[in-house]
Amino acid sequence: MTKTRFAPSPTGYVHIGNVRTALFNALLAKHDKGIFLLRIEDTDQNRSEETYAEQLQHDLLWLGLAWQEGPGVGGDQVPYFQSQRQSIYAQYYQQLEEAKHVYPCFCSDQELAIARKLQLSSGKPPRYQGTCRQLSAEQIKQKIEQGLKPTLRFRVPDSQVIEFNDFVRGPQRFQSNEIGDFVIRRGDGTAAFFFCNAIDDAVMKVTHVLRGEDHLTNTPRQLMILQALGLPFPQYGHMALIVGPDGAPLSKRHGSRNIKELKQLGFLPQAIINYLGRLGHYYPDNSYMDLTQLATNFSVSALGSAPARYDQEQLLYWQKQAVQHLDESSLWDWLGAEVQQLIPTTAKNLFIQTIKANITFPTDALHWAKIFFTDLHYSAESSAILKQADAKLFETAITVLAQAGTDFKALSNAVSQQLNIKGKALFQPLRVALTGELHGPEMGHIVELLGKDKIHARLTAASEIK
Ligand code: GLU
Repeated sequence: MTKTRFAPSPTGYVHIGNVRTALFNALLAKHDKGIFLLRIEDTDQNRSEETYAEQLQHDLLWLGLAWQEGPGVGGDQVPYFQSQRQSIYAQYYQQLEEAKHVYPCFCSDQELAIARKLQLSSGKPPRYQGTCRQLSAEQIKQKIEQGLKPTLRFRVPDSQVIEFNDFVRGPQRFQSNEIGDFVIRRGDGTAAFFFCNAIDDAVMKVTHVLRGEDHLTNTPRQLMILQALGLPFPQYGHMALIVGPDGAPLSKRHGSRNIKELKQLGFLPQAIINYLGRLGHYYPDNSYMDLTQLATNFSVSALGSAPARYDQEQLLYWQKQAVQHLDESSLWDWLGAEVQQLIPTTAKNLFIQTIKANITFPTDALHWAKIFFTDLHYSAESSAILKQADAKLFETAITVLAQAGTDFKALSNAVSQQLNIKGKALFQPLRVALTGELHGPEMGHIVELLGKDKIHARLTAASEIK
């Protein structure tokens, strides 16, 4: 059975890039009727924070990306926080030590930095030179007695070819001679990313590791670790990264925001998943889809290998689509208290119908709610239009109103016939008189929502603008 996972390091708020990885993994699992697992990779104690781990779970649930195995849900490989799995990793360190796949390394950060500099200046790729590879048991003992705290390095086998078939990018081939011995346990005893990430994928029986291509060069190292331990390999797939419109890796300066901020701005989860589902993944059907439809039509073969360009306009497009697809009660909730308290209960449904096609965010709805349900003040631009209107327009409209009432068609037809005006000269001043705006929702809805008295008052106010 397919098992995918999202394995974030809780070192900041979840942003568009991480969430796309989570989304694709969730979609792949759902498509295959498998399991989507969440694992919190918090071994870096200096950078990990509990609040980030909590917020990322909120964000995923808000987006509809519930996990079937992981924090809060459980599973047969608890715990799902790596910081609580040290005893599990300890067994594997021991196994590697016994088989001499690893050795303690006493090189200081300073020594390593100097060695790297020398290699770089002589045009060589920086790689651990194996200084501590051949230490005798006696030498190791002495250094430990001196109080030195070694890291644990993986002894990369000589002259091996490491091959795997990346399910996004195709066949990959690496030479072990180009990979230096690497650290799998830090001096403070905590597990290095390469190590616990690979171990957990294997023991948690993850079948597909779908992640960003920034991890591609980690994969041969992880395969070597798993091989040395006789653990199963997941299949790996590496997606192209997301870039800004200028081609540079996506960042805040491109207008990219984290999920928490997008939520606060009023973005809908459905908009985000419809947009991200298409960022680097091709759906032949470009219509709005819910999570189930996105999963049904998801395919790893539709993942692109070229960097995906983030486009704020596209996100706004999907936001509008998502608003149109909200049912009335969800839309009402989304509008929030500030809008809700302006709308009389009896006008709720009509208000929603009136504005639905004209809003992208709750603040747009607030704008219309104020126009319909609080006093109207005409701007200079609106006043200018009202002044230029046919001298008899508003008076005539007021007289006609008595009979036509809130039937806008009847009202505008009658005015049109009596004054012999039509089109923009008729409709624009009426719209401005009733809403103060040049554009907006359908007038039919607007007059119904305003009711006779308010229309009367506004037409009178408009006629008095000189
Ligand atoms: N914790 C790693 C990260 O957030 C996970 C990488 C992976 O998906 O394997 O980058």
